[in-house]
This record gives sequence, C-alpha cells and structure tokens, in this order.
Amino acid sequence: MAPYLKDWRGRYEGVALAVVRPGSTEEVRATVAWARAHSVGIVPQGGNTGLAGGATPTSDSPDGPAQIVLSLTRMARVRKVDRVAMTLEAEAGCIVEHAKQAAVEAGRFLPISFGAQGSATIGGMIATNAGGINALRYGTARQLVLGLEAVLADGTVVRGLGGLRKDNAGYDWKQLLIGSEGTLGIVTAAVLRLAPLPAERELAFAAVASPERALALLERCQDAMGDAISAFELMSGPTMEIVVGHLGGRAPLASPASGGGPADWLVLIEVADSAGRLRGRLEGALADAADAGVVLDAALPESAEQTRRFWTLRESVGEAERRGERSVKHDVAVRVSDVPAFIRDAEAALARLSPALRTIVFGHLGDGNLHFNVVVPRNGTGAASVADEAVTRAVHDVVARFGGSITAEHGIGQYRTGELLRLKAPEELALMRRLKRALDPEGLLNPGKVISGEPPSGWSPPL
Ligand SMILES: Cc1cc2nc3c(=O)[nH]c(=O)nc-3n(C[C@H](O)[C@H](O)[C@H](O)COP(=O)(O)OP(=O)(O)OC[C@H]3O[C@@H](n4cnc5c(N)ncnc54)[C@H](O)[C@@H]3O)c2cc1C
Repeated sequence: MAPYLKDWRGRYEGVALAVVRPGSTEEVRATVAWARAHSVGIVPQGGNTGLAGGATPTSDSPDGPAQIVLSLTRMARVRKVDRVAMTLEAEAGCIVEHAKQAAVEAGRFLPISFGAQGSATIGGMIATNAGGINALRYGTARQLVLGLEAVLADGTVVRGLGGLRKDNAGYDWKQLLIGSEGTLGIVTAAVLRLAPLPAERELAFAAVASPERALALLERCQDAMGDAISAFELMSGPTMEIVVGHLGGRAPLASPASGGGPADWLVLIEVADSAGRLRGRLEGALADAADAGVVLDAALPESAEQTRRFWTLRESVGEAERRGERSVKHDVAVRVSDVPAFIRDAEAALARLSPALRTIVFGHLGDGNLHFNVVVPRNGTGAASVADEAVTRAVHDVVARFGGSITAEHGIGQYRTGELLRLKAPEELALMRRLKRALDPEGLLNPGKVISGEPPSGWSPPL
C-alpha cells in the first residue's frame, strides 16, 4: 500500500484500512455504499501527483479515524473520440497523456499540458481543475469539461455524459465537482472538449531585464499574434540555474546585463496555429521588441531536438526543485498586470522577515499565476532560520492585498486548509460549508481536505 499513502512531494504520509481499486462505476458505487455503512472516510486518488496532499489520507495512526484510499487507476479507458463533435470520452483513471495521444490519433488536440501529465489522470485533472501551460489560450480543465459521470457520497450515480455544448436545463451540477478535490463526489468518467490539431507550433526563449519588460513583451506578442499565443511562461534567473544544474548543459540565453551570466528573467513563448507562417511573425515580434529595448536577446530552436530541450528546461523545474534545497511552496494568482508589483512587494516582505531568504519564481505569466517558492536557509543545527508558516503568511498577505488567490492551480488539499480559513471571506466559507453539508452530510468524502461541513465554534448563521 505504501506508494498510495505518500504524496508526490513526500510531505504527507497517512494511514488507511485498505487501498480499493474498483474497475467500474458500479464497483465505485458499491465501495461508497460499504464505506457509508461503516462510517469509513474515502480518499479518492488518481495518479497521486497532486501538490497539496489532497490524495493522501489525513489519518496518521491505525487508531485514528478509519479511511480507505479509492484508486481510480484501473478505470483507464478512452471510450471514444468524436471527430465531428470534437469530444473525447474517458474513464476517470485514464492517464492525461494517453487521452492526448488518442486525440492526436484522431487528428484532434486535447488542449491541456502540464509537467505531470504522464502520470496524472483525467479524474485528478478535473478534481484539481488543473491549468498548465496552455490555459492562457484554452482555459483550465473547467473549460474543457462538457460532461461528467460521478458517484456521490450517498452512493447515487449521476450521469451527464451527453457532451452537449449547450445545456441550460437546470443547475450545471458538474461545475460543483470540478476543482472540488474529491470532497463533493467521485468522478468516474468525463467528456472533454477537443480543439483542432495545430499544424504549426513555434517556440522562443527571450531574455528580459524585469517582470515589467516581460509584460511589455506579452502585450506586443498579443498585438502581433493574437490568440495564437498558447503559452507565455516566466522564469527567474535563479530558477533556470537550478534546472540547468539538475539537467546539465547550458542555459539557452545569457544576459548581457549580468555580464554574460544567466539572464535575470526569461520568457518561454509558444505560438500554435492551424494555418501556418507563424515563425516569421514570432521572429518579427521579437525583433521589434529588441529594437524597442523590451527584449535583451532571444533564441528560436533550430531543430526538433532543441524544441524538446526548451520545453524540458521549463517542465523540469518541479523535479529540479525536489532534488535541490527545500523550499516553501506558493501557487498564487494576481491580475496579469499586477504581476511585477506583486513580485516586488512579496520580495520586500520576505526581506523584512530575513535577508537570507531566496526566491525561486516561475509560472504562467499570461494567466497571472506564479509559483513563488522561498528557500529558507538552515542554521548550523539544521533548523530553519524562519518558520515556514511565517514565510507563507508574509507571501499570502501580499496576495490578499492584491485581491489575488492563494492557489491558482494546485488546490487546497491538506496543505492550505489553514490559510483558506484565514484569508477567504466568511460569507464564501459559509457557502462552501453549506455545499459540503448538502452533498456529504456525514463528511465521508476526503475528510480533512479543503473544508469540513462543520461551522467553526462560536459561529451563528446570518439571519
Ligand atoms: C511535476 C508536476 C507539475 C505539475 N504542473 C502543474 C501545472 O502546470 N498546472 C496544474 O494545474 N497542476 C500541475 N500539477 C499538479 C496537478 O494538478 C496534478 O498533478 C494533477 O491534476 C492531479 O492529477 P492526479 O490524477 O495525479 O490526482 P491525485 O494527485 O491523485 O489527486 C489530486 C486531488 O484530486 C482528487 N481526485 C483524484 N481523482 C479523483 C476522482 N476521480 N474523483 C474525485 N476526486 C479525485 C484527490 O482526492 C485529490 O484531492 C503538477 C504536478 C507535478 C507533480
């Protein structure tokens, strides 16, 4: 059972009575009925790549509250691809990469890409409302879900796999389950929206002096190439350094400003279209930006091998970080135009805590989503110089000042429950509790994650 009881980052480890691996929706339903009859908590799990401890049991001793892990990985089929309707139906345990391949084989594109897609499942992607590098153009998982099948906490199976593009017949219940991290229902199958397969894809790395310049470049690219921009990723110089340290080789661009060392900030731009002739437009936009002093230097890959290397540099950040110094992770979102000011203010807040704190900043600039990770140096005895909680509070307080979100992609899980309670508006928390109680009154689904249905002590409902 061990691999099912630890999270990807190795931060959480739990205890379960058993790992149950159903092979059909009926077996999921039967498992839920059994768990309900015995008051046993159910922890839904897909590829176990989540970054918030959402798929790990919260029970930490055999005498703690009884929980089972419900792994969907045996329900892994792509059921059908409809080329005309541009939809794909798959079971919840289907690996995201496999669904993407099935779409390509039918000449279509499942437009979601993220570092863990070789292990993450369709059910986990929906339950965490995953975003990734293509969200700028195609939206997050929520925008891709046209239909869902799910098992609710009382054992009801709700089937909505019609795949309709338009359906206003009553409440759109599937929206409640998307992003609910297994706390409101168990996704067993889904119908996803596909896009035309892009005929041409071009990529470039650009070195810029600051996040402000990166935003100015985004604006120029939007003017020149409109919604052909499918990714616009920001990486700080120190982030590139740890990736290159992990992978070997050299950084794609050096910065003249830093005396030929790694560039201070890098942007990875991808454009994709079904029509073509994008390379010239991308080169033109970068050349104009260089003439205007917005870009310091840029490189376009000259081969398929180099294209792969460029993407590998971006996608290996998580793995490189995992093998390097431990950092306190943040996954925040602010308005796109506020990103430079947010970085400045958050770094100033950290410097006030301790000048020894260092940041690893990267993310999806086009979505205003930054992974803002903080390396906390250890003192001689191995203890952290500043408590992790103080670092997180400092960063999240700045997020709150900008009206942002404390998690844009990874979710609350068990990692951010305290910060959710601290920073979410009381009215929103009360509404979330009402929804949880309505759908899972006994609190069987993913206990200890996101929010419980219980009101806080001393709380009374508004009149
Ligand atoms: C290297 C790396 C890069 C990543 N990059 C990105 C990124 O760019 N963008 C992004 O958004 N995310 C990213 N992630 C996190 C991403 O959200 C998850 O990896 C993925 O979506 C979770 O899928 P999973 O099948 O592994 O789910 P799990 O980890 O198994 O579960 C995640 C949550 O979903 C619930 N769940 C799982 N399956 C179901 C189901 N069938 N029904 C109900 N609830 C379920 C679990 O209970 C848990 O709360 C990354 C993760 C890694 C490791």
